[in-house]
Amino acid sequence: MFVGHYALGLAAKRLAPRTSLGALIAAPILLDLLWPIFLLVGWEYVSIQPNPNPFLRLQFDSYPISHGLVAVIGWATLFASIYFGVARYLVGAITIWCGVVSHWVLDYLVHRPDLPLYAGSSRLLGLGLWNRPKITMTIELAMFAAGILIYLRTTKAKNAIGNFAFWLFVLALVGLYVAVMFAPPPSSVKKLAIGTLFSWLFVAWAWWLDRHRVAPTNPSEVPTLIPSARN
Ligand SMILES: [Zn+2]
Repeated sequence: MFVGHYALGLAAKRLAPRTSLGALIAAPILLDLLWPIFLLVGWEYVSIQPNPNPFLRLQFDSYPISHGLVAVIGWATLFASIYFGVARYLVGAITIWCGVVSHWVLDYLVHRPDLPLYAGSSRLLGLGLWNRPKITMTIELAMFAAGILIYLRTTKAKNAIGNFAFWLFVLALVGLYVAVMFAPPPSSVKKLAIGTLFSWLFVAWAWWLDRHRVAPTNPSEVPTLIPSARN
């Protein structure tokens, strides 16, 4: 799952309007931010296999540190605790915790049985929606559209950057999603890992664009958004 994770980050703005979109996006994609690092240092393994179904080209041989359910709960608790320590915003911390765990749940829906519960566990889970690429894409793009709509209804652009940077962010993600579908598979695991590391840029981008938008956290802030509505 790719843009489906971003969809939850966008939608989370409604639950925690005071939390930056950067943190709200980082939460549901955290496991895929960590995974390429673990691949590069040799702690986790993946192999690339030719397959006409672009969703099934990666065989996740071992990834209990980034994608084992027990570790995921640990990552969620760590990220939420750090966030709470810095921001002192409980709703945001809870939303971030749920966001990190949501990644595992969505991956569970789409992956073939390759998700471990913990390191060393022989039981691997996954419902395998990726075997039906059209259904996967439809669901994922519909989720992404819903996420965009919720984020747009929760926030308003303060300036032109707030609009353009947001739509560029959306276009880049959809473009990347479609490109990955039609592009040949990565030629090596190292290239795959380095390519995946670029997700960190989307976190920075989300943080930056969110600073150019405003989310009213109580009704009294609304008139500053629509000045003509009051007078
Ligand atoms: Zn993942």
